[in-house]
Amino acid sequence: MAMNDRMNFYRHLGQTSSFPLALEIVRAEGAYMYDADGKEYLDLISGISVSALGHVHPTVVRAVKAQAEKYMHLMVYGEFVQSPQVQLALLLSEVLPHKLEQTFLVNSGSEAVEGALKLAKRYTGRTQIVSFGNAYHGSSHGSLSVTGNEGLKRAFRPLLPEVYHLPFGDVDALSHISSETACVIVETIQGEAGAVTAGQEFFTRLRQLCDDTGALLIMDEIQAGMGRSGRMWAFEHYGHIPDILILAKSFGGGLPLGAFISRKEIMHCLTHDPVLGHITTFGGNAVCAAASKACLETIISNKLWENAERQGKRFRERLVHPAIKNIRGMGLLMALEFDSFDQCKAIIDTCIAKGLITDWFLFASHCLRIAPPLNITDRDVEKACDLILEAIDQNSY
Ligand code: PMP
Repeated sequence: MAMNDRMNFYRHLGQTSSFPLALEIVRAEGAYMYDADGKEYLDLISGISVSALGHVHPTVVRAVKAQAEKYMHLMVYGEFVQSPQVQLALLLSEVLPHKLEQTFLVNSGSEAVEGALKLAKRYTGRTQIVSFGNAYHGSSHGSLSVTGNEGLKRAFRPLLPEVYHLPFGDVDALSHISSETACVIVETIQGEAGAVTAGQEFFTRLRQLCDDTGALLIMDEIQAGMGRSGRMWAFEHYGHIPDILILAKSFGGGLPLGAFISRKEIMHCLTHDPVLGHITTFGGNAVCAAASKACLETIISNKLWENAERQGKRFRERLVHPAIKNIRGMGLLMALEFDSFDQCKAIIDTCIAKGLITDWFLFASHCLRIAPPLNITDRDVEKACDLILEAIDQNSY
């Protein structure tokens, strides 16, 4: 059976590359995954920043089961009063600044970016969009347009017009933001660039220029949000609130869910001229919304951002090696920087062989990704560090 699955994976599933990891995991629990032979893997990347509570968290599983037994899908998003959606939106309004009072639920990160860009264009009546180099915002046409990597985009042009990419972190370059700008979309921590941060001055100037010009500030916290950065929301590090916040990945508690969140006055635009300004059939699916609420509550009640901060520090203290050139990022969104892709790839392969799952980044292939579940224990961090250091030693010449 397992053999057939492997064959049929290549034969019948659309592939994203000619070099998939192709691990066959049959079960996962907490920070661990298990393959068909019972081999154990410590998950250091959480399905790319998704499994914030680890795998099969009992609170989330309970919420999913309970909701699945009541109903799964009733109607397209926005028509019926569905309690799981309403309760999730209410909880978000309680834990976010007042300015972020209304949540529009969608299916994925890319769709949340699409919704946010459309909302900004509609609200401002403007067409120009500012984004940043090496940003990753998704794979649909609009979200790809604001992604800052030409290699991913070239084959799919024409994309959205009037998108301007500025260097991330460059305060002076922000002066390109003008009264023609509909919105600026920015990751609070650039994920796929390899956990790249920008300074306080950058975000302060960005907020100020958006206020001065009337451009909406969209913060994409799809990777950095939900506690991963060491604060509940990564924008808290800078003390500036976006006009639109975008969530996905861990937001769904392991199920597919995204959101763009704004103040009512802005969000209201999607209800008229045209009516149904953004339509999504499955957005806010009741089971996904129930999982999301359970996950959010668990993160909040356990203050998991504190563990993210503490364990991030532990990784930094333990991972000292001449081959590690730099450790980037915040909390548990980290990148270990090596000299080359070849070296990084060899270390990653050795880690996986030793039972530690890690990865590189889309736009930083010489960096090793550290983004484990937020509730990772001291013991598992120690174990991960031992395995990484061993793997580095085995691949240093
Ligand atoms: N924004 C960021 C910062 C992301 O990391 C991702 C996914 N890697 C996306 C947007 C797109 O999300 P999705 O894959 O759910 O469409």
